[in-house]
Amino acid sequence: MNQWTHDSMQASKRFLVIEDEQDIAELIALHLTDLNAEVTQIHNGSEGLDLALARSWDAIILDLRLPGMDGIDVCRSIRNQGRSIPIIMLTARSTELNRVLGLEIGADDYLTKPFSSLELQARVKALLRRSSVAQQSLSKTDAETHIVHGSLEINKKNRIASLNNQTLELTATEFELLCFFAEHPNVVFKRSELLDRVWGYHHQGYEHTVNSHINRLRSKLEVDPSSPQYIHTVWGVGYRFQLVS
Ligand code: CA
Repeated sequence: MNQWTHDSMQASKRFLVIEDEQDIAELIALHLTDLNAEVTQIHNGSEGLDLALARSWDAIILDLRLPGMDGIDVCRSIRNQGRSIPIIMLTARSTELNRVLGLEIGADDYLTKPFSSLELQARVKALLRRSSVAQQSLSKTDAETHIVHGSLEINKKNRIASLNNQTLELTATEFELLCFFAEHPNVVFKRSELLDRVWGYHHQGYEHTVNSHINRLRSKLEVDPSSPQYIHTVWGVGYRFQLVS
């Protein structure tokens, strides 16, 4: 196995970087180590998938084009195993980004190369903030963490959402997005506002990340995703969550 590990005495986070270009992988690892994280690099898609599933990670940085198995299949396989590990996908061009977003493979965020160390760190921090918000809800009371709208139930403490008593298989970001909507029914949000409030950052040009996640969430939540009852598109503005009794 072709892999290096950066260890830190106080490492509190564990990141997996799956990237075949070793200089880029090394650079990413350096930037993440600055965040007091233990970083493992791997340069092959299928070995990366094995490692992603074999241990627990706080986040995975996953390149799109990889030998062994491409990043799209790695991401899909992780999600098909029911794993909600936060995943940031790296793409080489914005045209690639658009293609990947169209596939809705379940990544939490996307970065187009080349990106700055600050941009990478901001995205990773935002991702960790989202998962720590989820952790914080563990200390709240049931009333604070339980949302019920008709047949939709969300338990923020257990991170479980269900519809008609059927558990919805959601990624961390999809879960956060659903919680945010359910806590703000009937309010219209712009894509940029959703990026700010749910993703924790707003970078110009990443609004399509929102569309992609909404489509995935609709495919899991709505009886007929093409005619949604819960998440309505407000043309030219954004999205609105409607209570369904
Ligand atoms: Ca590559």
